[in-house]
Amino acid sequence: MSNEIWVFVEQQEGRVRKVTFELLSVADEFSKKTGSQVAAILLGSGLQEAVKNLTPYADKIYLMDDPALVSYTSDAYLIHMAPFIKEHQPSVLLGGATSTGKDLFPRLSMHLQTGYVPDCTDLMVEESGKLVAKRPLYGGKVFAEMAFSKARPQMATVRNNTFLVNENLKKSAQVISIPSHADPSALKKKVIGLEKTAGTKLDITEAEIVVAAGRGIKGPENFKILEELADVLNASVGTTRATVDEGWRDLKDQIGKSGKNISAKLYMAFGISGAIHHVLGIGTCKTVVAVDTDPNALIFNYADYGIVGDLFQIVPALKDELKKALAEK
Ligand SMILES: Cc1cc2nc3c(=O)[nH]c(=O)nc-3n(C[C@H](O)[C@H](O)[C@H](O)COP(=O)(O)OP(=O)(O)OC[C@H]3O[C@@H](n4cnc5c(N)ncnc54)[C@H](O)[C@@H]3O)c2cc1C
Repeated sequence: MSNEIWVFVEQQEGRVRKVTFELLSVADEFSKKTGSQVAAILLGSGLQEAVKNLTPYADKIYLMDDPALVSYTSDAYLIHMAPFIKEHQPSVLLGGATSTGKDLFPRLSMHLQTGYVPDCTDLMVEESGKLVAKRPLYGGKVFAEMAFSKARPQMATVRNNTFLVNENLKKSAQVISIPSHADPSALKKKVIGLEKTAGTKLDITEAEIVVAAGRGIKGPENFKILEELADVLNASVGTTRATVDEGWRDLKDQIGKSGKNISAKLYMAFGISGAIHHVLGIGTCKTVVAVDTDPNALIFNYADYGIVGDLFQIVPALKDELKKALAEK
């Protein structure tokens, strides 16, 4: 058993997702407390750029470079990772609470017969190396702090934007190539192509600022004003199920119980009533601003700042003022 802290690297075409750097940064803090090393576990094919970008953030990079891993599939990743983890028995294994993390970690946990805490909003570690993982339960009504029994590794997935990326880290990771002993004929799934979604904005779960509109925006064409505000703030655009059901917006942008949980630093809700199914998805946002014509809208119960008013007046005015303020900075 090793006392290393491992972070599963989430990457696509060599671009490492921000949540990986967030986790490597918090792992570095933990390693100072526990005297352990931080290792990134990187799977894929043709990963020079990813290795270069990860090097300052980890003491070691365990690299599994194999054409079978070029696109993520749960079975390929599982048959490569599970025996390696079993052999090394790191103390902790962390990953993002992303769709990949949510797909991979429960499978790993079952194969490794160890505990796994999903969708965490905070992590703590004791000097002994014991991990305490905090996660919302009952739709965010309570938070549970969970610790692990003796089984290792202690596994958790963590929401995006939970920890800050420490850009001052200047490690020089040792790259350790792991030969693949996996049998390609054991793979049941094969990716035959990838379709990229249009647009260049970050996914709403990754964005630090999310601006969203609900049915109050009246029609799909009016999202243009929200997109313009988002451009000024470098934000991503979210929405409610009501507009998705209307066919105005894509399901990938839906926030809430049957959509995505976001942990943005700033969440701005325009014309969103604040139904429980929606606000379940914003419980860990740091600051919430709500604009609604109805002073009794439930969203105001969850907002740090509220404006009772017409979004068609407020969004353009806000955009102009923010543009001016940001230009003066
Ligand atoms: C099982 C289940 C799962 C669900 N999952 C989700 C989910 O994941 N995400 C989700 O969002 N919903 C979900 N819902 C639906 C949810 O219950 C609500 O129906 C939905 O969130 C309402 O969306 P809305 O706020 O856009 O619309 P509405 O409730 O219709 O609210 C529109 C708001 O816009 C305001 N408004 C109108 N005109 C203006 C204007 N000009 N300026 C400013 N404000 C204005 C109104 O006052 C109102 O408050 C789910 C429901 C169920 C049953």
